[in-house]
Amino acid sequence: YAPLAEIDSEVYSLIQKETWRQFSGLELIASENLTSRAAMEANGSILTNKYSEGLPGARYYGGNEHIDVLEILCQKRALEAFSLDPSIWGVNVQPYSGSTANFAAFTALIEPQDRIMGLGLPDGGHLTHGYYTAKKKISASSIYFQSFPYSLDPATQLIDYVNLQKTAQLFKPRLIICGASAYPRDWEYKTLRTIADEQGAYLLADIAHTSGLVAAGELSNPFDYCDVVTTTTHKTLRGPRAGLIFFRKDRKGSEDMENRVNMAVFPACQGGPHNNTIAAIAVSLKLAAQPEFKTYAKQVVTNARVLASGLIQHQYKLQTNGTDNHLILWDLRPLKLTGSKVEKICDAVGITINKNAVSGDASAQAPGGIRLGTSALTSRSMVEDDIKIVADLLHRAVQLSVQVQKEAGSKLLKDFVRVATTGEGEGAKAVRV
Ligand code: PLP
Repeated sequence: YAPLAEIDSEVYSLIQKETWRQFSGLELIASENLTSRAAMEANGSILTNKYSEGLPGARYYGGNEHIDVLEILCQKRALEAFSLDPSIWGVNVQPYSGSTANFAAFTALIEPQDRIMGLGLPDGGHLTHGYYTAKKKISASSIYFQSFPYSLDPATQLIDYVNLQKTAQLFKPRLIICGASAYPRDWEYKTLRTIADEQGAYLLADIAHTSGLVAAGELSNPFDYCDVVTTTTHKTLRGPRAGLIFFRKDRKGSEDMENRVNMAVFPACQGGPHNNTIAAIAVSLKLAAQPEFKTYAKQVVTNARVLASGLIQHQYKLQTNGTDNHLILWDLRPLKLTGSKVEKICDAVGITINKNAVSGDASAQAPGGIRLGTSALTSRSMVEDDIKIVADLLHRAVQLSVQVQKEAGSKLLKDFVRVATTGEGEGAKAVRV
């Protein structure tokens, strides 16, 4: 029962270092956020000790009287967060993550080898939406289902709904997945519903990235049109790392959806729920229902727009020329830079971003862009004026990347990164720049 610092100084010290890294730098990774102290307290609680396979009132283990109340509370708050009528919508709060939520949802909706369509990974879709390459089926969603991606219109870099409809007419999917990891615009759920209905397909929205913005009314509402909605809880929703599956209970011919989803989560795809995480989700959903969260979500979007226009003022090229949500895709190809080079330079100067494919990239392995998001900086109370400074800092980091690449090629770049991370070596000059 001794504290961590006494029991394991190595792990303790790594946590201290990571805490310093998270708060001393600028966190611009679009899929990350800073969850509340209250959620972390719940996540680190004694609830981690408990097994509770099954559902409230129907467990495979004794001693679940408090866990049952907790899970029901979490379900209630999840439905309330998205203003859902409990007689029409249900939710499973047990998925360990967004990926397992998606696989469980697919398992509930369709049969092995059925056809699915999701936005292609190079166009911003997620791995779990059916990703495969010419050489290999990469994701379980393409291993166990037949998948065919839809894509962006190369001219506008928006979802090409016309082509999606044509492809669906040929491919005849049983499930259409919308939602993305790197798409800066809102979705046309009504159009997607029409396309899905033409094929008798289910429509699933994976709002992992945007669920906080959807809950706050900053983006269109997928629940009006979709059969199932999945999300992670740790991105714009600002909770612990986990997933949720919302399902419509009244779809004609699928009245057993509640049972199908619940059975798909456990026992089909998972074992015992992580009750500590469920408690932390419940806490985060309580916070997401407060007026302060709506103000936060609005500011996330405002900050993303300010960041986009700051970069555009510096003459940079952004995919779709801006954003409707929390994220920006920055096309670095006109500068002849790769996303990974800029990611390294930014790491070295305390700005955390990630390399990302941009529309038309030849290879997802060497992407020509970076993805930025404003959720975490907004959680640190940054507003428009702060974000303008962030845009200028990013401009300087990218100019530095151009300079390092031009002057000395990759050797100096390597030196630069080494120097900036270790404080020694011949790249010191570059660091001083
Ligand atoms: N779905 C989308 C759209 C995502 O962006 C992600 C993660 O980035 C996931 C699912 C998977 O979430 P997790 O990493 O929690 O498995």
